[in-house]
Amino acid sequence: MKKAVKILSIVLALAAVITLFAACGKKEAETKTLTFGTNAEFPPFEFVASNGVIDNYDGIDMAIAKQVAEENGMQAKIENLEFDSLIVAVQNGQIDAAIAGMTIKPERLESVDFSIPYYKATQVMIVKEGSTITKAEDMADKKIVVIQGYTGESCVKDMGYKYEAFKKGSEAILELVNGKCDVVVIDSATAKNYVADNPGLKIVEDNNAFEGEEYAIAVKKGNTELLNKINATLEKMLADGTIEKFGAQYAG
Ligand code: GLN
Repeated sequence: MKKAVKILSIVLALAAVITLFAACGKKEAETKTLTFGTNAEFPPFEFVASNGVIDNYDGIDMAIAKQVAEENGMQAKIENLEFDSLIVAVQNGQIDAAIAGMTIKPERLESVDFSIPYYKATQVMIVKEGSTITKAEDMADKKIVVIQGYTGESCVKDMGYKYEAFKKGSEAILELVNGKCDVVVIDSATAKNYVADNPGLKIVEDNNAFEGEEYAIAVKKGNTELLNKINATLEKMLADGTIEKFGAQYAG
């Protein structure tokens, strides 16, 4: 009898352990992935790093994406795409959301829904020290480089100037450093980053020519469930200074 009780308790203990393992396994399987698309060529918002906050990706946006996912019980995953394919990727469901220093623009609002804005920016001009460019108009007869699909491209196009578009910010900066162009038009925080890394370059601002912009996260049109979750986390992160902290951490 004693032996039977012993065996029974061992069996029961084993069953309990197995149930516990099964429950843990199930819980893990249920942790949903929130897939963000980005273009990791836009420091300090997103760039490739050996030890990033999400896999090999780091920057202000990546830290925000991680927190948005985690606060909503999900795990963030990054798909590194070309900037001008992000909107289509949101539309066809390849990614759940795009976080890429993306400016809210009327034409983009026709294709996707945007979260509340989380960052203010503007376009600026990067030139070589000693350049004669002091305002946007001075670019008229200069060799202008922009990055394909960025707001900078549409700004220069609207001004009616000729330009060359590159796929990556780093390629554009290399053109300038090598003297193959006179000016690169790009977002302010990213410009600061490039200028800090490349001696001999400087930023020229023209607030009359370039309007203020706001960055937001894009989701598929009508995906209010995800949008509400993103907005709730962004609101919290804006209110408690988290986004400002990320800005200081990555932009210095
Ligand atoms: N803010 C710019 C835009 O939305 C550039 C963003 C980016 O290159 N990641 O077009």
